[in-house]
Amino acid sequence: MAKGAIDTIVVDGLALANQLRDEMKAEIDTLVAAGHRPPQLTVVLVGDDPASLSYIKGKQRACARIGADSAEHLLPASTSEKELLDLLDRLNRDDGVDGILVQLPLPKPISPEAVAEAIDPAKDADALHPLNFGRLLLGNAQLISCTPLGVMAVLEHHGVSLAGADAVVIGRSNIVGKPVSILLQQQNATVTMCHSRTRNLPEICRRADVIVAAAGSPRMVKADWIKPGAAVMDVGVTEVDGKLVGDVDFEAALGIAGIITPSRRGIGPMTITMLLRNTLAAYRSRKGL
Ligand code: NAD
Repeated sequence: MAKGAIDTIVVDGLALANQLRDEMKAEIDTLVAAGHRPPQLTVVLVGDDPASLSYIKGKQRACARIGADSAEHLLPASTSEKELLDLLDRLNRDDGVDGILVQLPLPKPISPEAVAEAIDPAKDADALHPLNFGRLLLGNAQLISCTPLGVMAVLEHHGVSLAGADAVVIGRSNIVGKPVSILLQQQNATVTMCHSRTRNLPEICRRADVIVAAAGSPRMVKADWIKPGAAVMDVGVTEVDGKLVGDVDFEAALGIAGIITPSRRGIGPMTITMLLRNTLAAYRSRKGL
């Protein structure tokens, strides 16, 4: 099929995120009107990385937008692992805290695995605790990693049919590639997981009805890797010459992909929205509401 033969749908991730946030706001307004306190997300940042600071501010603004409370703990880069784990222990025991998120990356030598395991699984807003990961594998997780949830919400919203579809996931990280491949498989897609050692990646992608690109390798997915009409979910974000660039050659994919997420206003706003969703789910579950 010639390029341009397809009228590619460009996903407006911000519009969908806003719609879902409005729904959560209505839910929280109803709970508050019934006399309950709002849900609360606590974010912890170690160090003063400007990008991380801006991410946590964005998360707090998103909480305010839906009527949830948020709190922040800004710790110096010199914080020891023990000090951070002690703080997490206090937050775990604080009944007023529903969701806990420790912003990554953490300065060395703090172990991200130790931190993930120290968060109460019931308050694990980023769903990185091994118990939540195990539940995801078993198909009964309540809290699921935010970016994969965002990808699935976009596919669902646009009616992308997953049962029996060939899905290719590029990247096998714990935060994106692995969980999204499990979620796709649970929706009955046949999933191929690819990574930096995969042979014949272009050929594998050409068979895919759905591609989830989460490698962090700018514009690696070329137009001729995409089957006409495929759903292309571009998770990758890399700064190139001051611009954010996705893993997919976006312009070249227009007219070939059936649906595609742009690197701005694509999966990013959906990720934050799913963090709110997890916080609300954790709150409801803890409060039995
Ligand atoms: P990661 O570095 O932990 O994992 C990258 C994975 O991609 C690895 O499994 C690696 O094997 C694979 N990979 C790397 N280069 C490859 C190549 N050339 N061919 C095939 N596989 C390759 O990264 P991550 O945390 O999973 O994030 C991936 C990308 O998604 C990054 O660009 C990150 O910034 C972005 N991201 C975006 C959001 C969002 O909300 N939009 C959220 C999380 C991550």
